[in-house]
Amino acid sequence: MKTIGLIGGMSWESTVTYYQIINETVKKELGGLHSSRCILYSVDFDEIEKCQSCGDWDKSGDILGQAARSLEKAGADFIVICTNTMHKVAPRIQSYISIPLLHIADVTTECLKDRGIKTVALLGTRYTMEQDFYKERLVQSGLQVLIPEEPQREMINRVIFDELCLGTISPESRAGFLAIIRGLGQKGAEGVILGCTEIGLLIRQEDTDIPLFDTTVIHARKAAMASISGHVTE
Ligand code: GLU
Repeated sequence: MKTIGLIGGMSWESTVTYYQIINETVKKELGGLHSSRCILYSVDFDEIEKCQSCGDWDKSGDILGQAARSLEKAGADFIVICTNTMHKVAPRIQSYISIPLLHIADVTTECLKDRGIKTVALLGTRYTMEQDFYKERLVQSGLQVLIPEEPQREMINRVIFDELCLGTISPESRAGFLAIIRGLGQKGAEGVILGCTEIGLLIRQEDTDIPLFDTTVIHARKAAMASISGHVTE
């Protein structure tokens, strides 16, 4: 089994889910007492969020790059960044290491293609919804990407940072997200990417008929499978 290097803590609420899904997947695949061989480097999210909001992405990339380097030195065979947003600095993080990085948008794209989805809506932080680093990767692979309108993006971003990353799950916010998802379905979305690792704490597939693609679940499962098979697709 290959060793997974997890860069977590962004927020730790969703890193818990990563650890759980990775271990559940290894148990399901290998049975018995098998569990995941992994190393977690959990950062202080306050420091990263300050870099995001003041636009100092290089600094955040250096912090995470150093974390990735520590994981490589500690024996990790590949890296998993446990957040969508910080994939904005994936190239900078990669420049610190010589092991591969399992990109969250790529494994999500694979999953969408397997399900035959052509038009997909993307929910995430305002960085993920509005900037190109994530959307472009999906578009390049032939997907059409819809994002919510500006007031809705504002609400989603606020709920992520002021509620979900702090462990608050609110029925009002759930209803708000579901209304946005319904609207995106009416605009032609065949599926919805939960492109923030905390959204799965709020919304579940049982809440809606539109297929949901929870990036935390997809990324964690792919990481576990890559660890077991030894094949990491970059
Ligand atoms: N975990 C979130 C994401 O997947 C948001 C926190 C962050 O800004 O990294 O984008």
